[in-house]
Amino acid sequence: MKALVLEKYKHLVYKDVPAPNQAIDEVIVEVKACGICGSDVHGFDGSTGRRIPPLIMGHEASGIITETGAAVSKWKKGDRVTFDSTVYKLDDWYSLRGTYNLSDNREVLGVSPGTYRRNGAFAEYISIPQHILYRIPENVSFNQAAMVEPAAVALHAINISGIKAGNTCLVIGAGMIGTFIIKLLRISGASIVIAIDINDNQLAQAKKAGADYAFLSSSEDLHEKINSLTSGRGADIAYEAVGMTAAVNTAINGVRKGGTVVLVGNISQTVDFPLQKVVTGEIMVAGSCAIAGEYEAILNFLKMGKLSVDDQIFAVAPLSEGAVWFDRLYKKEAGPGKVILIP
Ligand SMILES: [Zn+2]
Repeated sequence: MKALVLEKYKHLVYKDVPAPNQAIDEVIVEVKACGICGSDVHGFDGSTGRRIPPLIMGHEASGIITETGAAVSKWKKGDRVTFDSTVYKLDDWYSLRGTYNLSDNREVLGVSPGTYRRNGAFAEYISIPQHILYRIPENVSFNQAAMVEPAAVALHAINISGIKAGNTCLVIGAGMIGTFIIKLLRISGASIVIAIDINDNQLAQAKKAGADYAFLSSSEDLHEKINSLTSGRGADIAYEAVGMTAAVNTAINGVRKGGTVVLVGNISQTVDFPLQKVVTGEIMVAGSCAIAGEYEAILNFLKMGKLSVDDQIFAVAPLSEGAVWFDRLYKKEAGPGKVILIP
C-alpha cells in the first residue's frame, strides 16, 4: 500500500510499504480522510520527541472497514467509521474507571515517543482495535468525520470544567481546539463567551465561531474589559488552549474567586504560575488530556447539524502531496484551519 512516511526529521516520503495485518480483535480500515494535526507539524522536526522516524503519522481519520478479525462481531465490511486517537487496554485500572485517556501504556496512533511506535492513518490502510471504533452517521462525510478528533478534545475540556448553564467563559487561544471550544460552549449553555488571542485573524475566526467578545491578549486594559463583562468579578471558567506562561496567566487572572481554569494547551513543559492568586482565590486548576468517550456526542452534534466543521477545513489534498502540505504548514504558509489528506 501507499503511505506517507516520516523517514527522517522534516523529510516525508510517499512510498510503498507493507499493508497492516489485523489481530483477531481488530479491523482493517481503508482510510478515506486524515487531518494534519498541529502536533504532527510540531513533531515532524523532532522538537517534541514524539515522532521518532521512521513513522507513519496521522490520528484524525475516517474510512471504511475492509476486513474484520475473527473476534470482531459488532462491525462488518463496508461500515463507515472513525476511531479514537488513543489505543488503550480495556482491563487497565484507569480504563475501568472510565478515564481510558489516562490509562497506563496507552498508545497514540501515528506517534513514536521512544517507548512505542504505532503507525497512523497517513496511509491507504490501518489496523484498528474494535473497541475504539465509532460509526459515522449517514449524513456526515468522511472529511467531516476526520474533524471529530479535535472537536472531541475540545468537548473533553468542557466536560472537565463542570460548566453549568449560564456560566461566563474565557477561551485563551483561538486555534483549532480553541475554536471548537467556543462553538461547543454555545451548545453547552455558556451565557457569555470571551475569546482572547495574540492574532487578529484568529479573533475574527473566534467571533465567527460564536464568541460574543474577542480581545487581543496585548490589550492594556484586558483585565478591566473582562471584569466589565462579568459583573466586576471575572469569568466563571477559563479554557487555556495555548500552553505558555503568558496564556496560563491570562486564564488565571481572568477568572473570579472560586472559578475554574482548564488547561488544554501544553506546548511548554513548565510555566510560571501565580500561586498566591490561585491559593487565596480558591481557583480550581484542572488539566484536560485528549478524549474520554466524547466521540459519540460530537458525531451526534454533526448528525443533528448542531456543530459545524466545514468552516474549519482549510484544504483537502491527495496524500501523495502530503510532504508539500507539511512544509507549508511548518512555514505557516497555510491555514488557519485543517489540512485533510486523502489517500
Ligand atoms: Zn491531534
